[in-house]
Amino acid sequence: MGVPLSQMWTVASYVLGKRLRGVKRYPLVLMLEPLFRCNLACAGCGKIQYPAEILRKNLSPQACFRAVEECGAPIVSIPGGEPLLHPQIDEIVAGLVARKKYIYLCTNALLLEKHLHRFTPSKYLSFSVHLDGYGDDHDQAVCREGVYDVAVSAIRAAVKRGFRVTTNSTFFDGSEPERVQKMFDEMSDIGVEGMMISPGYQYERAPDQDHFLTRQQTTSLFRRLLTNPKRTWKFNHSPLYLAFLQGGWDLECTPWGNPTYNVFGWQKPCYLLQEGHVDTFQELIDTTNWESYGRASGNSKCGDCMVHSGHEASAVVETFGSLKGLVSTAFFTVAGVAGMNRWLNRRTPESDRPLDRVRPQSALLPVLSDRVRASEGVSSSYAACASNRTEPVESDTESDNSKFSLPVISSPAA
Ligand code: SF4
Repeated sequence: MGVPLSQMWTVASYVLGKRLRGVKRYPLVLMLEPLFRCNLACAGCGKIQYPAEILRKNLSPQACFRAVEECGAPIVSIPGGEPLLHPQIDEIVAGLVARKKYIYLCTNALLLEKHLHRFTPSKYLSFSVHLDGYGDDHDQAVCREGVYDVAVSAIRAAVKRGFRVTTNSTFFDGSEPERVQKMFDEMSDIGVEGMMISPGYQYERAPDQDHFLTRQQTTSLFRRLLTNPKRTWKFNHSPLYLAFLQGGWDLECTPWGNPTYNVFGWQKPCYLLQEGHVDTFQELIDTTNWESYGRASGNSKCGDCMVHSGHEASAVVETFGSLKGLVSTAFFTVAGVAGMNRWLNRRTPESDRPLDRVRPQSALLPVLSDRVRASEGVSSSYAACASNRTEPVESDTESDNSKFSLPVISSPAA
């Protein structure tokens, strides 16, 4: 099953409506973080390092609905924390479905199978399952053994019950393309609707600072991840964003396209940076100095950022904002990832291709060195996990626990 036509139509008509009315900055996806608690402590995560009193907080359903109505974005992504730890998450989802919002509920899936009965399949609801690699690669990324198998079992159960299911994956230096492609194969065989892929953002608070990617490393890695694509792989991204990830299209960040609302209020300026909070969405739009963000601004925090929560909205805006964008999107959609790769290779001189320029061992070395350390009883990634432990917080539920989608915005994996 692909992204419903109704979702594509909703996004397309929303963007065209804004453009016709001359609105300069408008949201496409609301990032609604109803809590920061999580039942994992991943080494690359910069979201969970709060004191216990913050981790205990939940946004009420009414606060969520107010934010959704205030912002007006057609798509609502619910990351966290782990949203399934929120005691009223089913009420929040039901209220958003009733408001005809397309929801991506991001989950690590540890609790998904057990909690499926709390939700009803709907074209408005998609579970977006976090998977950062194949098998124990994912376990290592999330710092716990066995999580990949639990997630795969939950995905199968959700698909079987008729839910829309996507995956979201964040990749770092050390991701092995062949193993990531095995994950793409397995997810395609299970029948997920689409896969979302993104480089990790270099959170200052994340304990593992050694595996974040520079911009050049990102384009090189994603070219290798997407090389020899299977026809069965479906990516839940705009074609221009996938071209951007591979260094074949230039996109400037549009942080207002993915505004973030959480227990602190509306977060300036984006999902990744926290440079203040305000009480209303209008205040966010009016008082944020948007020119200070994005690569062109020269802000060092934005220089290597290519995450989809900053750039997927840009891809959609570009699709509808220029003839070149529209024609290229149509071409890539028909040609698929393989056609896009041929186009990328034709316009990039062989000597300049990131694929060829990158030292082949650069992405493998950290993994190999991890495995050597693992054989010695120490994994550098697992060592980083230990420093991401947050204060224990009692939970309200359980504590333990090759096609494009066009033209659509997807939810974050960041
Ligand atoms: S480039 Fe990245 S870090 Fe900077 S504002 Fe955009 S999304 Fe945020």
